[in-house]
Amino acid sequence: MRFLIKLSLAVSALAVVIPIDEASKSVADSIIGPHIAPGTEIYFLPNANYPIKFTQRHSSFANPGYAVAVQPLTVLDLATIVKFANKHNFTYMATGGHSSSVGFLRVRDAIDIDLSKFNTIGLDIDRNLVTVGAANTLADFADTLYKAGKEIPTGNSPCVSAIGATIGAGVGPMQGLHGLMIDSLRSVEMVTARGDVVTASKTENPDLFWAVRGAGANFGIITQATYAVYNATNGGKHVNADFEFGPGSQGALFDLLRSWDSDEVYPKEMAISVTLGYNRKARLPTISVSAYYFGPHESARPYLQQLVALDPTRWQNETLGWNEMTQAAGFGQTFAKACVGGRYTSHLTAGLRRTDPATWASVFASFVEWTAARPWFRGSIILQRYNAGVTRRVPEAERGAYPWRDIGTLVLMSNTYDGPAYDAEVNTFFQPLRESIYKTSGFDSPASTSTTATVMRARRRGMARACLGCKC
Ligand SMILES: Cc1cc2nc3c(=O)[nH]c(=O)nc-3n(C[C@H](O)[C@H](O)[C@H](O)COP(=O)(O)OP(=O)(O)OC[C@H]3O[C@@H](n4cnc5c(N)ncnc54)[C@H](O)[C@@H]3O)c2cc1C
Repeated sequence: MRFLIKLSLAVSALAVVIPIDEASKSVADSIIGPHIAPGTEIYFLPNANYPIKFTQRHSSFANPGYAVAVQPLTVLDLATIVKFANKHNFTYMATGGHSSSVGFLRVRDAIDIDLSKFNTIGLDIDRNLVTVGAANTLADFADTLYKAGKEIPTGNSPCVSAIGATIGAGVGPMQGLHGLMIDSLRSVEMVTARGDVVTASKTENPDLFWAVRGAGANFGIITQATYAVYNATNGGKHVNADFEFGPGSQGALFDLLRSWDSDEVYPKEMAISVTLGYNRKARLPTISVSAYYFGPHESARPYLQQLVALDPTRWQNETLGWNEMTQAAGFGQTFAKACVGGRYTSHLTAGLRRTDPATWASVFASFVEWTAARPWFRGSIILQRYNAGVTRRVPEAERGAYPWRDIGTLVLMSNTYDGPAYDAEVNTFFQPLRESIYKTSGFDSPASTSTTATVMRARRRGMARACLGCKC
């Protein structure tokens, strides 16, 4: 209703220049429509085509509330929509779809700006650059580059938007080799919060480029991004290994993780993902490890053998193209499952510099006890260990806004449950659990990859120039 009232005020304000004479068109269409290309779609919500034609959120946790949905066809249309929203003080939000944040609850009666039509990918093999649109996923990167004998650091899940992941830093298995996704980012084309179409790079709008690398969601809407690409390591082949362990192996596994805390010991070619869960049918804790090694099997073997020595109940390893890594992980199950949307899932993250086995034994025991007593909960705790050497060595002048370059292990509490009625109970358990993890994380203050801290950092640096009139 609030949106409708504001919209009618906007109609009267614009009536002089934009005649609203087609009764068959929605009100929103009548206002914005005359200024945009025919291929740009506008739905006044609810609309039956909205769930079919527009990107829906991966998780229904803390859903933003929209009154209008727009799918711009061109950058100029996007700029028109942003200017329109600014002028009439409408909240708007760009959608890739894979984040969930309580902050989204503040987005009410808003315009959903769906970026699905920005979906081209171009590889410039001579200059070692790739350009992707806002709708391209990490999977699009992988296939295009692998076929050309190139690689780029991407994330763990093929379904996530490449630019969406990048603007929060972009962590993933090749981080040890090439750093974060922001470290490969060379430039972006974006519509600023004021509605100007600009390029941001080291040489053009460098402040904005600094902010985009970590706090990107708050300074404009990126339509395309250009990254450096690298010759594929080991001819593009990597070792993919999966392990499952019984509860008896957990102590030895946490000890092994501690021995791998040093980036001198843990190889830059390796990445592992440890998932701690609970099997409700068997009433047992579950532990699985997915390992990637970007190099030949002989080099991977000494590290994989340390996992084999922990007596897995099941394990396998195979050599695959790097483009297949995420689909193959977890015996081919993990990330296929992660990509299924439509669930109610919240996330809490924490960063570690070191692993404290006693903390992890206690965290896992509490998690299992709490989960066993709550049949409505289906969550897991994931520890992703990447060599942070390259990430840490990036010179200050090249870094961008993202501050957590010392994180060696990223902890993700992925909490899937039966809806908002359980929010308070989940928070009451997981917030203190995360506090206990922070205490022995090796950081003086909590390190979390949440973008809030990064955004505050960007604002302190005086990002007003880029941020004028914006909704951040
Ligand atoms: C299954 C799953 C796996 C994941 N795996 C990884 C991983 O391996 N590595 C990793 O780094 N992250 C990973 N993430 C986290 C993910 O990168 C972030 O949640 C990211 O914010 C998702 O971007 P999105 O555009 O899809 O999400 P959205 O929720 O749509 O966007 C998040 C924020 O970014 C803004 N935004 C979206 N697109 C743009 C744009 N083009 N320009 C400006 N602002 C924009 C939105 O308005 C919103 O504020 C994963 C998330 C999920 C759900």
